[in-house]
Amino acid sequence: MDQNNVVIVGASTAGLFAAYLLAKERIPVQLYDVHEGLGQPPRTLIVTSKLSEVLGFVPPEAILNKVNRMELISAHRHSWVALQEPDLVIERQRLIELLARKAAEEGAKIYPGFRFLGFEDEGNKLLLSLENVVQGRQYTITTNVLIGADGVLSNVAKAASRDSRETVTIAQAKVVLPNQASADSVKVWFDRERTEFFYWLIPESEARAVIGLISRNGKGVRDNLEGFLSSQGCETLEFQAAQVPLHDPLLKPSRAISNSRILLIGDAGGQVKATTVGGVVAGLRGARAAVRAIVGQAPYRRTVRGLKAELDLHSLMRAVLNRFGDRDYDRLLELLNTRTRNLLATHNRDVFKNAFFKLALTQPRLLLLVANSLLNRKASR
Ligand SMILES: Cc1cc2nc3c(=O)[nH]c(=O)nc-3n(C[C@H](O)[C@H](O)[C@H](O)COP(=O)(O)OP(=O)(O)OC[C@H]3O[C@@H](n4cnc5c(N)ncnc54)[C@H](O)[C@@H]3O)c2cc1C
Repeated sequence: MDQNNVVIVGASTAGLFAAYLLAKERIPVQLYDVHEGLGQPPRTLIVTSKLSEVLGFVPPEAILNKVNRMELISAHRHSWVALQEPDLVIERQRLIELLARKAAEEGAKIYPGFRFLGFEDEGNKLLLSLENVVQGRQYTITTNVLIGADGVLSNVAKAASRDSRETVTIAQAKVVLPNQASADSVKVWFDRERTEFFYWLIPESEARAVIGLISRNGKGVRDNLEGFLSSQGCETLEFQAAQVPLHDPLLKPSRAISNSRILLIGDAGGQVKATTVGGVVAGLRGARAAVRAIVGQAPYRRTVRGLKAELDLHSLMRAVLNRFGDRDYDRLLELLNTRTRNLLATHNRDVFKNAFFKLALTQPRLLLLVANSLLNRKASR
């Protein structure tokens, strides 16, 4: 297998980071994206401090704000966690521009304005079809290693397998930072009447924030968000929404075809935490694992194992949380005593498996709460 010509479809965070890492290893890499301008549309994201560790550098130009505190609000309770390492609020486009610059500096070839249409197995190579979206002309190129980083509706994943994946809709509105909010604190509201997941407020600065929610089928999501915004006395300045996949423990992130391999990373590979529906850091970890597999000629399933274990745990926790009602969330916040809050402060949600058993030991009543919700009943409201 010729590892020396890698093609990546999708020039967003996961694809560009994989291109950067491959180019650093002096592996020729071509990256195609259907959009002519990279990083659109704008998106405000919150990530853990793990971002800089996974990237291997701090991306200062992408950071809008740092938050040191997470407030948790349920129907009748309120709690908070003081984060030991602040979460980073980032603008996706700025991160993408930074990654594109770094990948190009290392020698990656980036081709915006090319849509991936599909591939054929030529026996010793894959023959990829691409369309230049401006000229409307089709081109073919060959490779032995194809990375699908083309997002939730990945054409590479569809061409490589028939697996379908569960998706949710994330919607958020940019607003003036409400008086009752602080630029140093993220807020999370659990309200089972109005959402299966949660609402959030992420402060971008002293002046602006985004408020959002996740919806399983996207139906009525805009009305739901508008209702919540008006309950907080906020008006929408800008609206951001798109689908995101949820990690599925059973889906395979790679496929071998004759003499070639296809690796899926980021949203294309369903590398999204099912608890918070955060996919940026997980997608970057997926990119790193894919590059390790290519450089070390190792199975991707082996190099991605640590990430998969973390994402599997989040899927399990999501299954539990889906059964929670308002009283369970009240109880959950009640159980956050000083010791559990300290654990959550030092173990962020991208390395949660390190905290999981410690939490259970520190606060065994959490296990009781989980067992109750699994055994007993439908969600209690
Ligand atoms: C409103 C909103 C808020 C979010 N907030 C957070 C957050 O706070 N924290 C967090 O961690 N995550 C968040 N997410 C999720 C996060 O944005 C995604 O998980 C992450 O951006 C996925 O990155 P990616 O590189 O895998 O794919 P994407 O960013 O989806 O990029 C896919 C790329 O592939 C290209 N492409 C698609 N099809 C083709 C084709 N056929 N040919 C060529 N190119 C193609 C697209 O143009 C795009 O550039 C949020 C999502 C939304 C919608």
